[in-house]
Amino acid sequence: MTNTPSWIKAAIAERKQQSLFRKTVVMESAQSPSVRVDDSDYLAFCSNDYLGLANHPDLVKALHQSALEYGVGSGASHLVNGHSRVHQLLEEELADWLGYERVMLFSTGYMANLGVISALAGKNTLVLQDKLNHASLLDGAKLAEASLRRYLHNDLASAERLLSKEMSRAKPSNDSSSGNSSNEKQSPLLVTDGVFSMDGDIAPLKKLSTLAQKYSSILMVDDAHGLACIGKEGKGVMELEGVTSHDLPLLVGTFGKAFGTSGAFVATSNDMADYLTQFARPYIYTTAMSPAMAGATRASLALIRSAEGQERREKLAKNIAFFREKANQLPISLGDSQTAIQPVIVGDSEYALLLSQQLKQRGIWCTAIRPPTVPNAGARLRITLSARHTQQQICQLTQTLSKVMDKRG
Ligand SMILES: *Cc1c(COP(=O)(O)O)cnc(C)c1O
Repeated sequence: MTNTPSWIKAAIAERKQQSLFRKTVVMESAQSPSVRVDDSDYLAFCSNDYLGLANHPDLVKALHQSALEYGVGSGASHLVNGHSRVHQLLEEELADWLGYERVMLFSTGYMANLGVISALAGKNTLVLQDKLNHASLLDGAKLAEASLRRYLHNDLASAERLLSKEMSRAKPSNDSSSGNSSNEKQSPLLVTDGVFSMDGDIAPLKKLSTLAQKYSSILMVDDAHGLACIGKEGKGVMELEGVTSHDLPLLVGTFGKAFGTSGAFVATSNDMADYLTQFARPYIYTTAMSPAMAGATRASLALIRSAEGQERREKLAKNIAFFREKANQLPISLGDSQTAIQPVIVGDSEYALLLSQQLKQRGIWCTAIRPPTVPNAGARLRITLSARHTQQQICQLTQTLSKVMDKRG
């Protein structure tokens, strides 16, 4: 082994000193409200497996069967020969469900966001994003070398101010890096999370789509945490807000959260999908997701669309309401989230870490989320609920929270 450069050691030491050091923990069990770590069982409240599908027998069986039929590895990118029938069927079923002309699969949500934004924005194209958008959306704008502007969280007036200011200043771009080699000016992009991943609140999609239309910009929504969970049919924030593919030209969804598998997709029009197929580098230059995983995701989608899916959504909604009712009796401040993501914002990173450790000592697993994932002084316990939690387990959480939070004062 060569010696580690001192600047790397210094960066690690600094993170530790700031209570911001992170490391992985090895889980010895499948995703479930109860997880096994280091020979102990914990009640977990931090997974994104909101509907409890990650270890569902139907999905396990479908993964197995698809592997028998199509193998484990896809062997190539979608554009070479890695796009098998099972990928195609998954795309068509998602498009049918959400009411879009086309769906394209990506290997991860991170890559879907990089791919879409970097293909659609050239150098200096305005990419306007909510201040609390997911890191992958911000990174997409950086990869595009776009002009990234961030508006105040869920604040339409702030978004409009930036749009009108930039529009009056923007000059036509002659850049060809995104595929736009003509002299036509590229449309600005307006980009938001559907459900915000660290706060659990929801973007005003209806109003954002009106704003996007007013300024001839393209609206893109990443609903990683809303799809499958929100709305009677599980179509996420789109369904909640009464928005259709007409108002929302680009919808990104991921499979690693409520779908219980992994991978991601973008739902869009035929023309847009044709364009992205040519110019979205994270689509082109990567191996297609495992066909076995695509098969498992088809089973997940079928379940999400079924009566069982609806029952799980109802159970999740009940658990959310029950948690909020119990937590509101405690001396803690909850965000105004009605979704499965229920942050308890404590501010200080060291305190968030301490709370997380004290919960762990009492059998509850809930990781502290610290900067730079959340804004400075925004450290929190990001409590997430699942359809599989019981009311008794939720009571155990709130009772334990009340004990450890009292201790400080
Ligand atoms: C998790 C997440 C992603 C990334 O998706 P992966 O499939 O895990 O790469 C993108 N956007 C949001 C809002 C997310 O929460």
